[in-house]
Amino acid sequence: MEIFHVHTYRCGHAENVPDEEYVKKAVSLGADEIWFTDHAPFPGDPFGSRMNYAQLDEYLSTLFSLKQKYTEIRIHIGLEAEYFPGFDKSGYYDYLRSLDKPEILLLGQHMAEMPGTPHAYSFSESREYLDENEYRLLGNAILQGIRSGHFYAVAHPDRIFRRCNEWTEDMENISIKIIQAAADAGMPLEMNLSSVESPELYRKEFWRLVPENAKRITGFDAHSVDQMEYRFNEAAVRLREFRPF
Ligand SMILES: [Zn+2]
Ligand SMILES: [Zn+2]
Repeated sequence: MEIFHVHTYRCGHAENVPDEEYVKKAVSLGADEIWFTDHAPFPGDPFGSRMNYAQLDEYLSTLFSLKQKYTEIRIHIGLEAEYFPGFDKSGYYDYLRSLDKPEILLLGQHMAEMPGTPHAYSFSESREYLDENEYRLLGNAILQGIRSGHFYAVAHPDRIFRRCNEWTEDMENISIKIIQAAADAGMPLEMNLSSVESPELYRKEFWRLVPENAKRITGFDAHSVDQMEYRFNEAAVRLREFRPF
């Protein structure tokens, strides 16, 4: 079994332990592979909840040493990042992909650049505005991110609806677009084991629209060693939620 989507202490909202503790636990659980995808920094550090840009080299080189030290498990190095058109234009995703150590970028759209306004972001909008519009902003950013060709998989696609109560036709339409765009790009949709533990983050209505043969990946989204272990042991049970057939 592979453990995909693990964070590290550098993001500031994960357990403060060395990366090696995740590797040791993954080995003891009998996992074959572990994928680190901590939140990617952006130049100038405009966002919180992630490592500083200056820590990127150290993140990559620390994981690279662990990769060389542990032969009993395959360690993969990735970064979880939002898609922002402004940073695409300035070549940042190309830069990240040109580095030799990161193997993948995971598209995790936690916020969005405001349309037509580079360097203005959804988190600056009012709560009322976001309650109504956040899923459209995040959904459109995901579509652009999928089409950009920079990313390997779509993390927690159903989380864009975290502020929505009633399921609407518009939500259904944007879900269908995301599912179709991912299929066209050959990108897996992530069934996020953290989302399924929180009623507002997991949307069964979204997963009902995903065809049985669509590419999927299981994401742990672990922010602590205990979470990783818990989700490893619970995965079989939790994953049933994502397959409403
Ligand atoms: Zn996080
Ligand atoms: Zn994550």
